[in-house]
Amino acid sequence: MEKTIEHTSQQAEIYLPSIYSLTLEQLQAWMAEQGEKPFRAVQVYEWLYEKRVTSFAEMTNLPKSLREKLATQFTITTLKTLVQQTSKDGTMKFLFELHDGYSIETVLMRHDYGNSICVTTQVGCRIGCTFCASTLGGLKRHLEAGEIVAQVVKVQKVLDEQGERVDSIVVMGIGEPFDNYDELIKFLKIVNHPKGLHIGARHITVSTSGIIPKIYQFADEGTQINFAISLHAPTTELRTKLMPINKAYPLPKLMEAVRYYVEKTGRRVTFEYGLFGGVNDQIEHAEQLVELLKGLKCHVNLIPVNYVPERNYVRTPREQIFAFERTLKKHGINVTIRREQGHDIDAACGQLRAKERKEETR
Ligand code: SF4
Repeated sequence: MEKTIEHTSQQAEIYLPSIYSLTLEQLQAWMAEQGEKPFRAVQVYEWLYEKRVTSFAEMTNLPKSLREKLATQFTITTLKTLVQQTSKDGTMKFLFELHDGYSIETVLMRHDYGNSICVTTQVGCRIGCTFCASTLGGLKRHLEAGEIVAQVVKVQKVLDEQGERVDSIVVMGIGEPFDNYDELIKFLKIVNHPKGLHIGARHITVSTSGIIPKIYQFADEGTQINFAISLHAPTTELRTKLMPINKAYPLPKLMEAVRYYVEKTGRRVTFEYGLFGGVNDQIEHAEQLVELLKGLKCHVNLIPVNYVPERNYVRTPREQIFAFERTLKKHGINVTIRREQGHDIDAACGQLRAKERKEETR
């Protein structure tokens, strides 16, 4: 395992917002306010996302006065790399420092179908899932769209050195994306835009713990982005034990919202189902899950979870995992078992983190 520490400062400097937070339309509006032509915004986007420069001074086809004006109003990235680790299987974990001293994690996973990055949307989380260490300190703050975009650009710059690219994005890192909805949508527009990072909607997945009103809103956005629900239990009672959000947004209502999403978009939905030994991993649970998902265009992703010290959750035995999978398959449900990556660097997805981590550095 390689580990590089690049930077350890925790002091906030003079804060200028990141230009990565601006959609192309917003940047065009800003240009118009400055008396500039809209094509200047496109040029800036090309410098940011195609050439991936780190200073306005490098944007040499812009007038000097405009470059200077941009530099007085914006920074490019507000993220600093604190730690970069590479696992034996190629998985990379990044710890980035934000302008106010908080730190966040981003993970790059290597699959045979390409490079996938898992981004964080909040510092901490207020959802309170019982298996998740990210929520223990509560929510510190939402990330701005530019702070989410910057995670992708930072990782892409590392991949540039290897002649590779970020092929897909999963919004499954720390935080509940729908709890930071407006910034999430801006982020999605920027990374998906042909003049932005141009990552296809079908290569982006957003996962929620189940904030129902936002599921309806997301369905109505009309995007082709993949959608996943952290389900983890087939009944209301059991889900409430694992995920307290189920009290506010109970399972039957959640399933109504999911069915609306599928009808509205014609897209299938993925259900993330963490297997917790002796809790939700019995055949009866698999059968209840079959009942719950009956007739729904969906896919189930089984995630064998390691020991969770805060809750004494233990790993499901191998045979039991396969028996659970077989039960779903037998009833025609599409199912996969998630391959684990980056074990030696603790790179499990932020949604199912099994080890406590320090979420903040200040
Ligand atoms: S699993 Fe996700 S939504 Fe649940 S507490 Fe952790 S970060 Fe928040």
